[in-house]
Amino acid sequence: MEKNYYVCTGCGLLCDDIEVESEKNVVNKVYTACRVGVAHMKETRGEVGFRVDNTPVDEATAINEAVSILKNAKNPLIFGLGNSTDETQKLAIELAKKINATLDDTSSFCLGPLSEAIIQNKLKTCTLDDVRNKADVIIYWGTDPSDSHPRLLSKHSYFPRGSEKQRGWEEERTAIAIDVRKSHTAKICGNYFFQIPPKGDAEFIDALIAGLSGKIPKTSYNFPPKRILELANILKGAKFGVIFVGRGLIYSIDDLEPLFKLMKVLNEKANFHLIPMVSSCNIVGFNEKLFAETGYVNSVKFEDGTVKHGPEYSIVESLKAKTVDAALIIGTDPFSILPHSIVKNLLEIPVISIDHCETLTSKHAKVYINTTISGVESGGSATRMDGVKVSFEPVIKTDHPSEEVILKKIMEAL
Ligand code: SF4
Repeated sequence: MEKNYYVCTGCGLLCDDIEVESEKNVVNKVYTACRVGVAHMKETRGEVGFRVDNTPVDEATAINEAVSILKNAKNPLIFGLGNSTDETQKLAIELAKKINATLDDTSSFCLGPLSEAIIQNKLKTCTLDDVRNKADVIIYWGTDPSDSHPRLLSKHSYFPRGSEKQRGWEEERTAIAIDVRKSHTAKICGNYFFQIPPKGDAEFIDALIAGLSGKIPKTSYNFPPKRILELANILKGAKFGVIFVGRGLIYSIDDLEPLFKLMKVLNEKANFHLIPMVSSCNIVGFNEKLFAETGYVNSVKFEDGTVKHGPEYSIVESLKAKTVDAALIIGTDPFSILPHSIVKNLLEIPVISIDHCETLTSKHAKVYINTTISGVESGGSATRMDGVKVSFEPVIKTDHPSEEVILKKIMEAL
């Protein structure tokens, strides 16, 4: 019997080998997925539909109210889209152009600079298939995929066999964790865990570069030079190395210069690649599309056919400065992820929340439009964290509108 495999949109790995048992459009069993994926595939939308001012309304009324807010706004903000399909993201960019909006996503306070450098070919990257097939040295830096991307180690990096790594695991690969705490991933890496102090990454990179260049590595926090030299020797011997870069590293360094320097030296001595540990399932897709349209991956403002870019057009700075006068939030929850001192300013402007689930943002929104769960109730395509395109079919059928359908209706009515 032919099996149907589905794609899990629970994180940036977009695992495409998921088997599901469902009955009467309810997912009962999920096989192959990790615990995060199982919870995601079994997620239910509940009975919440459409609301204006916390009162249930029909879809047309909610859309009319959303359109009226956007028409009356002088500088609306569109934010989110990291978990939206490619099709929805394209529409959102068109919408932002049409209404002269500020457009931003979570990458403006996460891994955006790194994604931009990769899109611009300033840093060498590779696919997860390359990692599984070839990688002999794997570094998890400032990230704990065992918790955030649970199948990264088992399916794509340390444990699996690959075409040029028939034995996999510790027989043919060295897994290294560099982090401020002994995470679950660091425990798997055993003796190859290098614990550094908070904000100690830039100095550690300098010391590692010294070690790679045959000099004595030194840090102000007295990290044992012998251990850095041991690490440098492993990296020098890598035939195919990869660094998975997490927020822990990016938040610790002021800019990407230390990473550029490290990758330059590593690639003079060995063969190293870098993959950002983005969490949302299609944040890379959003960054790529916006870059193709504007030359920037986030924080843009459309204005009568021109594009402005800068930190002042990020959600954080535009809310701080109170420059936006309405917000369309798609598939994300700024009330949960941003500091209260910033996000409280959203309470002063009309907010439209389009989301498949109830969030703090949807509860505070003037208009709430409940949509399908992308990848579970509606199909589309997305870009995996390594830049590979993935298409997916819905697991269960529903007549409920998707984000794409709602954005099309808003565009038509504007
Ligand atoms: Fe889903 Fe990510 Fe788990 Fe894969 S690792 S099953 S994409 S949540």
